[in-house]
Amino acid sequence: MSIVGLARPGIRALHAYEAGEQVDDTVRLNANESPDSLAAGRFRRPLNRYPEVRPEKVARLLASRFGCKTNELLVTRGSSEGIDLVIRSFCEPRRDSLVLSEPSFVMYRHFATVQDACIIEVPAEAERDFAIDADALLAACDATTKLVFVCSPNNPTGTLMPRADLERLLEALTGRCAVVVDEAYVEFGGEPSVVDLLPRYENLVILRTLSKALGFAGARCGAVIAHPPVIEMLAAVQAPYALATPVVECVEDALEADAAAGTSSLVAAIVDERRRMESALMRFGFIRKMWPSHANFLLVQVDDARRLVDDCRARGVLIRYFGGQLPECVRISIGSPEENDRLLAVLDALGIRC
Ligand code: PMP
Repeated sequence: MSIVGLARPGIRALHAYEAGEQVDDTVRLNANESPDSLAAGRFRRPLNRYPEVRPEKVARLLASRFGCKTNELLVTRGSSEGIDLVIRSFCEPRRDSLVLSEPSFVMYRHFATVQDACIIEVPAEAERDFAIDADALLAACDATTKLVFVCSPNNPTGTLMPRADLERLLEALTGRCAVVVDEAYVEFGGEPSVVDLLPRYENLVILRTLSKALGFAGARCGAVIAHPPVIEMLAAVQAPYALATPVVECVEDALEADAAAGTSSLVAAIVDERRRMESALMRFGFIRKMWPSHANFLLVQVDDARRLVDDCRARGVLIRYFGGQLPECVRISIGSPEENDRLLAVLDALGIRC
């Protein structure tokens, strides 16, 4: 079956919202907009007008950055929206399932729950460095399964799924379900995106974000990359005018400047700092285990996770408690050298260096 054939019948039949035409140098009385704006002149485009239903130039810039065609990409409000759109489009409530490797990014479960989709969990083992087990994912898929989520590098474990395993999964699930590869942290992993597999696998869906390596979390911009019929279907589900004019303009500017300057130096700096923090943290006696990371964070098991998080917070540094999911674990994002030094100084002050 084609991948679009796997989607919910009601969604396949859905037509995209028809927005009022937007034509320059015309009198526009077709969209209930205001003739003027309190913020007139603050942006290149008039703020009293709706933005494009889908931002063409941002789509073009992102497609060229991510290595796909413009009609293979949908611009979304962060990759969070991409997760939601894919689950809503493919999973019939209370009937269809999605398969997740656990632990992974909690929003897959969140949006699946909102949609009332069934969740099939495949545990990844701490002892095996949380390796994402392609065979176990495959074995977990049943006749109800529409989606398999693979987060690589994975949040919160930092694990990378080998490309050969992913290909095996895509191959085995061709015509059966879509494999959603979340590449939120791909820039930090040292391995290229799997976007080059798109021509070979109709069931591949990739999620990208500008929130991490590009440092644009505040802009809320990401993308879904997939075959054009999937993109058309998701576009019909997405609210029109999803990307606001200020965001469109700031993302256009940043992507153009970055493309002109070559690859962002942010990534190299963060990977260097990750290496430095790996060895700096290992000197503290309270660290029981640290998993190898291909992302911009470290997952660490400590003696008392709750206490460490609270003690750091009391001294002005926030790290993330993961003890609810992973015994005595914390996730430490890699910040600037100064921010990382601040954490190290706090740990020193806590008197827990070996
Ligand atoms: N995927 C993963 C794996 C993430 O960790 C995050 C954010 N923490 C997202 C997607 C969502 O990011 P955004 O919505 O900012 O693009």
